[in-house]
Amino acid sequence: MVVTVSSPCFQFSSLTGMNASDSFTITTIEFCPVDVPLVDPFVVATSQLHVAQNAFVRVTLNDGTIGYGEIAPFPGISDENRETSLVQAQVLGNHLLGRSALTYQRLGRELAELAPDHPAARCGVETAILDALTRATKLPLWALWGGADVRPRETDVTIPITSVERTLELARTWHDRGFRVFKMKVGHDVDDDIRRLEAIHRQYADVSFLIDPNQGYTREEAACFIQGVTRSGANMVLLEQPLARDDLEGHARLQRDFQVHVAVDESARSLNDLKAVIQQRAANYINVKITKSGVLEGMAMAAFAKASGLHVMIGGMVETRVAMGCSYGLVMGLGHVDVLDLDTPLLLGTDPVTGGYTYNDASLQPWDGPGLDLDIPCFQSTVSLSH
Ligand SMILES: [Mg+2]
Repeated sequence: MVVTVSSPCFQFSSLTGMNASDSFTITTIEFCPVDVPLVDPFVVATSQLHVAQNAFVRVTLNDGTIGYGEIAPFPGISDENRETSLVQAQVLGNHLLGRSALTYQRLGRELAELAPDHPAARCGVETAILDALTRATKLPLWALWGGADVRPRETDVTIPITSVERTLELARTWHDRGFRVFKMKVGHDVDDDIRRLEAIHRQYADVSFLIDPNQGYTREEAACFIQGVTRSGANMVLLEQPLARDDLEGHARLQRDFQVHVAVDESARSLNDLKAVIQQRAANYINVKITKSGVLEGMAMAAFAKASGLHVMIGGMVETRVAMGCSYGLVMGLGHVDVLDLDTPLLLGTDPVTGGYTYNDASLQPWDGPGLDLDIPCFQSTVSLSH
C-alpha cells in the first residue's frame, strides 16, 4: 500500500488472527493528517515551525470502542517528520491488528523494538490503544496510572525566539491572562537572549522563567548567559538543555559551577539515556515527553527519574489537546510531576479537538469521562484505501 499523507485520511483493517471473543481486540487503525497553524512562529535555536504537521490516530476495538492518539513530530528536534512517522505508524498498525489492548505494556515493548527511532509514531498508536482501553472499561485515562494527583495544574507558556518588542507584546498578553511561568526559547545570541529576559523581568517581576536554549549554547556561552541572568535578578527556575545532547560532562559542570538547576531534554530520549544522565550527574530535572520517547517509555522514565531523586517536568512538542491530554493524564496518574510544560494547544490558531481537558487560562482542568474524553471530527471524512 502506498502511504499518501496528502490524502484526507487513510485506513487499514484486518480480522486475520483475531480472537472474536476478545472485545479488546484491535480491529482497525486509521490515520488522519492534520495541519494546525501557529499564531506566532514557534522559533527555537535549532528550527522553526509555522504549521504543526501532525496526524491523528483512531483505533477501534472489536466491541466498537474507539480510541484516539496523536503523532506530533518536530523536525529539527526529533529525527522524524510526518511522512516518515506515518510510514512507520502503518508498520506498527499492521503489527497490532488482532492483538488485545489489554496487553498494552507488552505491545509497547514490541513497538519500541519495531520502531526505536520513531517515538512520535509509537506515541500516537500507544495513546490511541490506551484511550480505547480506558473508554472500554469506562475509566478516565489518568485512572490507569493510579490517579495519584487529580487536580487542576498550572502550566508555563512558551515565548519563542523573536524580537524584544514582540517578546514584550507576548509577555503582556500572557501575563494579563494570569500566566506567571514563562518558558523562554533562547540560543541564537546570548546578548539578545539576556536583553529579552531582562525586558520581561523589568516589566513583570512576578514571572519565573524556564529557559530553553535547545542545545544552542557552547559551554562558554551558557556560562555567560547564567551570569547575565544572575545580574538581572530574574528568577530562573531551571536551564533546560543548554548544550549539545552528548555533552553530559558540560551540563554537569554548569550545574556544579553555578548552582543552577539544569534540565535535560534532548539528552534524555530513552530510559537508557536517562541512566547515563543520572550516572554523570548531568541534571536534576528531566523533561519527559511522550512524543520524544513513546508513552510507556516516557512513563518509565518519569518513574525512574523520581526514584533516582530527579525532579520531573512533563512537556511536549507542538501538540493539540490529544497528545497533551495524555501527558496531563500522566501528571494526574503518577502524582510526582513538579513542572508542567503543557501549553502548545494555546499557541495554535485552531483547536481540531472537541471535549477533553480544558484550560482556565494557565490552569489545566481535569476531566471525568472515560479515556481522554474527547472527539476528533476529522475522522468523519475517513476514506478507506486498503484491504
Ligand atoms: Mg526542550
